[in-house]
Amino acid sequence: MLSRGTRAVISLAALQHNLSIVRRVAPASSVLAVVKADAYGHGLVPVARALAVGSDALGVATFEEGMSLKLAGIERPVLLMEGVLSTAQLQQAAQQGFQIVVHQPWQLSMLLEAQLASPLTVWLKVDTGMHRLGIAANGCALFWQQLQSSANVKAVVLMSHLACADEPEHPLNQQQGELFSRLRQSVGATAASFANSAATLNRPDFHYQWVRPGLMLYGATPFAPSSGAVQSMQPVMHLQSRIISRTRVPAGDSVGYGATWRADRDTDVAVVAIGYGDGYPRHLSADAEVLIDGQRCAVLGRVSMDMITVDVTALPDAGPNTQVTLWGPGLPVEEVAVWANTINYELLCQVTGRVERIYVDGANT
Ligand SMILES: *Cc1c(COP(=O)(O)O)cnc(C)c1O
Repeated sequence: MLSRGTRAVISLAALQHNLSIVRRVAPASSVLAVVKADAYGHGLVPVARALAVGSDALGVATFEEGMSLKLAGIERPVLLMEGVLSTAQLQQAAQQGFQIVVHQPWQLSMLLEAQLASPLTVWLKVDTGMHRLGIAANGCALFWQQLQSSANVKAVVLMSHLACADEPEHPLNQQQGELFSRLRQSVGATAASFANSAATLNRPDFHYQWVRPGLMLYGATPFAPSSGAVQSMQPVMHLQSRIISRTRVPAGDSVGYGATWRADRDTDVAVVAIGYGDGYPRHLSADAEVLIDGQRCAVLGRVSMDMITVDVTALPDAGPNTQVTLWGPGLPVEEVAVWANTINYELLCQVTGRVERIYVDGANT
């Protein structure tokens, strides 16, 4: 019987390997492993459970993501990176022992005025130039002092986020770095955090006490269009599917919706059971390739919801049930991202719930 075989094989061994690279490049720092957005599409709880062993804390974006970790019995400290959005959430955060980011004056007021069951560790986020989240630099000293003297606060970490860490030459990196360093000195912070994956990899001067890698744990690189392998990382996700049909399309005929691709020679066309309903972007309709039996095959015509069509003329043995790699070993997600005119982050995150995640202890092959 045919199996659709559309799945994301998640290598927990690759995840551990990539974490060991973080440890190697940032040996003096604690590691906050970022598992937001369903662990970048890899599956929150299984990934967090695997990373909990070798990391020092886990970072999520939302309260709900934090609760999922607690309900799964994961005991590593959890940081809510957007903080809490209501007093009720603040109370629950204290009960659950979450650590929280404070990035807005109203979040500070809420914290100072609350009566909490137990004090929290607070990460004070200061805006050093990205202008997204964070309190203004000129409020940093006052905020710091108020947090330090609040009975609701156990410890304070100073943090900021880089806007252009993936572009090492961008002048904003240096500007943000200098401001952060100055603020840290002025408040006398003994715990500070500045580096995402990109800065973890290439700015040792930005490591401080806590690095916050996300993407690189999954074996992907922020330095597109280079691939994770260049930094000896291993891809954690192998997105795969199978051929469900093979037919010969005569020269002159077209394939797929809109008849956008026309055969200029007789072409063997395989239908592969994956489409934009699985998170394989429709934007891949033009230049994309897939990997079959170690060989690159062109995607023909438009990506449909449940299927794509690929040229297997050069592969006489490829037929129903043959496995196809959409990205993973041998076909870096970074390369697919270029074809799709997006970034590896987005491709990984948008694999849909229909795609079964399968967790293996060995390396992805
Ligand atoms: C997502 C996120 C990170 C991780 O970024 P990567 O580029 O995936 O390493 C680090 N810090 C904060 C605040 C984040 O939101």
